[in-house]
Amino acid sequence: MYKIFFPAVLLLFFSCGQKNTSNSNDAVQLNSLAEKYVRLGLAIGQYDESFVDAYYGPDSLKPAMVKTDSVFPKDRFLAEVNMLTNDLKALEGNANDTIAKRSAWITSQLKAFERRIKLFGGDSASFEIETKELYGVTVPVYDTMHFKAIANELDSLLPGPGTVNERFQQLANHFVIPKTKLDTVLKTSIAECRKRTLKYYPLPATENFTLEFVTNKPWSGYNWYKGNYRSVIQINTDLDIFIDRVIDVGSHESYPGHHVYNMLLEKNLYRDKGWVEISFYPLYSPQSLIAEGSANYGIELAFPGDEKIEFAKNVLLPLAGIDTTHISLYFKALELRDELNFVRNEVCRGLMNKTMTEKEAVYWLKNFSLMNESAAVKSISFIKANRSYVINYNYGKRMAKQYIEKKAGTAVDKKWEAFGWLLSNQVEPSALQ
Ligand SMILES: [Zn+2]
Repeated sequence: MYKIFFPAVLLLFFSCGQKNTSNSNDAVQLNSLAEKYVRLGLAIGQYDESFVDAYYGPDSLKPAMVKTDSVFPKDRFLAEVNMLTNDLKALEGNANDTIAKRSAWITSQLKAFERRIKLFGGDSASFEIETKELYGVTVPVYDTMHFKAIANELDSLLPGPGTVNERFQQLANHFVIPKTKLDTVLKTSIAECRKRTLKYYPLPATENFTLEFVTNKPWSGYNWYKGNYRSVIQINTDLDIFIDRVIDVGSHESYPGHHVYNMLLEKNLYRDKGWVEISFYPLYSPQSLIAEGSANYGIELAFPGDEKIEFAKNVLLPLAGIDTTHISLYFKALELRDELNFVRNEVCRGLMNKTMTEKEAVYWLKNFSLMNESAAVKSISFIKANRSYVINYNYGKRMAKQYIEKKAGTAVDKKWEAFGWLLSNQVEPSALQ
């Protein structure tokens, strides 16, 4: 008996040892491929200025100050993507789950590099191809009937004469924050978002952010993550800022939105595990679907039910010196309008596929998405600059919401737990479906 078992045990021992050695070799190889991925991304960013959203990894991976090529080296970059992808493919079937998943995640990020390199080099694709290759998803198509049905619900909700949009704008205009009060109101809102997040997550003691007001941008707010748990949050004051945007933008850019997402990735994956690829965040990649989707879902996680209304009514509106009458109606209308955010996808699809003119696009945004004229024009300028990125806000949010509610049910602390997992791991969009 022993004679039979002994060699078997030895064999097992030997094969384990062999497996560990090959695993650690694979881990070393993966780390080296991860460095190449970062180097490549930073090199692309030397040409494509909006390619890099954040980088806080080692300086040694940054490219030399002077660009290697004077014109965008599309073919060289594509060849590098191809080479890296092939090397990673060999690791995707790795017996070690962590190595396999990390490799697969970097591979899907590289798919997005490829699409963006082609676009920057002058080779644009349809809306459908772009959303698949950049963000890993196919978004649903909605026709005018779908949006009209939602607008009809709003129609019966809003009092007074005029079109639905006119009545919605009239209601919204009660809640514009005076420019002189903006700083105080926004800081108060962010402080509340932070307090609500800290109840569930222990954040690094040194974490902080600075808040800046800017103009002439295609976006309404931006989080520039600087590493070491610090962010610069910029709020664009080109357009009027309404009470709901103070809560939404505050939470989306900060707690538990982008600032927290970037911090949790830095802490859990970069600092604790040494995964260098996470220190580099390419804007046009599947990572943005998770980032924008979670940042938008985070708003209703932090303010469930009527808590947004209560906070606006009891704290923010008095602080801004605004009358609170009709605030409940306004938030009810906004809930319906949130579904109309999907209009932006159809407008983007139409503009990118050249089935819609810019004039038609403005018409869609005003009549189906209930934007005012200046918001519609701003929305078009965002689409021109960032193309199909708009899907990350609405479809990304829907995916994050469905995933978390399926996993956690209705228990609030379970939702925060599932949300925390989403913000602390390399998650591919397909994992949410
Ligand atoms: Zn965002």
